[in-house]
Amino acid sequence: MAVIKVMDELLANKIAAGEVVERCASVVKELVENSIDAGSTEIKVELEDAGTRQIKVIDNGKGMDKEDAILAFSRHATSKIDDEDDLYRLTTLGFRGEALASIAAVSKVDLKTCMKDIGTHVVINGGKIIETGLGDARKGTTITVSELFYNTPARLKHMKSLYTELASITDYINKLALSQPKIRFTLQNNDNVILKTDGSGNILKVIQSIYGTDVARKMVPIKGENPDYEISGYVSLPEVHRSSRNNMVTIVNGRVVRNMDINRIINDAYHSYKPDNRYPITVINITVDPSVIDVNIHPTKMDIKFSKMDTLLELIKMVVRAAITDRNLIPEVSVRKEKPKREELRFDLERHGNKPIIKEEIEFEEPVIPVNESIYEDENNGNIVHEVVMENDNYKINTKEEEKEFMPEMYPVGLVHGTYIIAQNEKGMYIIDQHAAKERCNYERFKETMGKPNIASTPLLFPITIELSNEEFIILKENMHILENLKFKIEEFGINSVIIKEHPAWLPKGFEEESIRKIIEIVIHTQKDFNIEKFNEKIATMMSCKHAIKANTNITLEEMEALITDLRNCKNPYNCPHGRPTMIYYSNYDLEKLFKRSGFDTIK
Ligand code: ZN
Ligand code: ZN
Repeated sequence: MAVIKVMDELLANKIAAGEVVERCASVVKELVENSIDAGSTEIKVELEDAGTRQIKVIDNGKGMDKEDAILAFSRHATSKIDDEDDLYRLTTLGFRGEALASIAAVSKVDLKTCMKDIGTHVVINGGKIIETGLGDARKGTTITVSELFYNTPARLKHMKSLYTELASITDYINKLALSQPKIRFTLQNNDNVILKTDGSGNILKVIQSIYGTDVARKMVPIKGENPDYEISGYVSLPEVHRSSRNNMVTIVNGRVVRNMDINRIINDAYHSYKPDNRYPITVINITVDPSVIDVNIHPTKMDIKFSKMDTLLELIKMVVRAAITDRNLIPEVSVRKEKPKREELRFDLERHGNKPIIKEEIEFEEPVIPVNESIYEDENNGNIVHEVVMENDNYKINTKEEEKEFMPEMYPVGLVHGTYIIAQNEKGMYIIDQHAAKERCNYERFKETMGKPNIASTPLLFPITIELSNEEFIILKENMHILENLKFKIEEFGINSVIIKEHPAWLPKGFEEESIRKIIEIVIHTQKDFNIEKFNEKIATMMSCKHAIKANTNITLEEMEALITDLRNCKNPYNCPHGRPTMIYYSNYDLEKLFKRSGFDTIK
């Protein structure tokens, strides 16, 4: 009887494993969360072949006694959820109980743990305890999971490529490190260090460890609160953006969550400061009374809903917007030491006989831990200090001071290819894209004019007729008032046609017909949930480009000066309305470095 019972349990664990343990990342997640629950301040994750061969997690937590160590792998060890409220309070990290049993059922587990100077060693293969005995009296727990799915070949086949496995583990540990800056994390794969954090509690330092110094120095601290929420964290300057939303991290009461609305509102806050289809790097910490959260709990998903979502989104948008505007946003072309060699990892999966041999090379984005630069928040005044130690010389950049400064004055010295204005001031050299700059000036002017109640209109000497499809015609007819409000004089003209007799005075000369057609197109395509703000903005963006100086146009120094002055009067002089930069900057220091001049402080 006893044997049958054991068989049943093994089977149940194997089945459960299919649900809980999907891939290497889920094993890492389970083990690391156990380490956090054990109060560890240092957690090291060592992978072999992205975890497919072996996952080892070493912590300095409180450990287990022999009884608990064995019980931990039993299917009913649900001891970790002591308080049902925990589930709703988001105070504990994970879901406990069956995960370890499930992992043990489909792998070989070696557990060394120590509590009160008594070490325990447990070995389990495919869910069966092979060995229990005394172990080292080293503080904490070391758990090694090897040959995952070795006894369930069907699941092994489902495992994604090594690159995908490693990427998702890295992503998980990165985010965990951001949410737990007081824990010292190390992640390595085949002896290559992928992430190392210092456990100092400084989120900016974690950001530096993940993204490198260049990104870290372009992160801006945020802070804000309303009666329900308190938010803090860091957002990247608009010049730093990525193709995926994955670098937008939201942490609620210490736990990483996913929320599409929050990501969307952050991206909105950056509108026209960067291309809309690129995403910033952000870490937003939200502190909230747990009763406001509506948790949709699932062990693998981290979705969360808030009962007062509107006020939260409003707060986030305001705080992010304030952080990225009203500051000097000219991207500095930083000339620094050679980019570190990209790490190349090779994998060889010959061990898994039933799997094809995979050889992959993985490239990481700046996997460096710089030794001679540091960024930290000054405890006394909250300023961000960027410190570079270089050949016995230190220099510091204090981002709080920079913040006060808007686009500085600069003086044009020439034009390259009729496209780029070279300008200078005492700080360095600027390269301005004249089309983008002009576009920005036009855009702000158009937006202002369009918003005014009495726009002048110009009669057309030769009225323009526009033919539409029957469907477009119906839509346009319903939305005629939008055009009339913009001071178009527009009438029906035969079947499915309209005639335009007057247009607003701000239409660019020589582009009237083209612009009118574009505007009508925009009306037809945006009629669902029409929003005058967005509509005006689309029109302004389109017109600003039409009206701007084309590339390869030579302009005089006076014209350049006028353009720079215009640009300095813009609310956002740093980007064209499409989000491209209008200018870049080389500091004197950078120029010195480029030309290998010895002391950067000789030029004043
Ligand atoms: Zn353009
Ligand atoms: Zn543009």
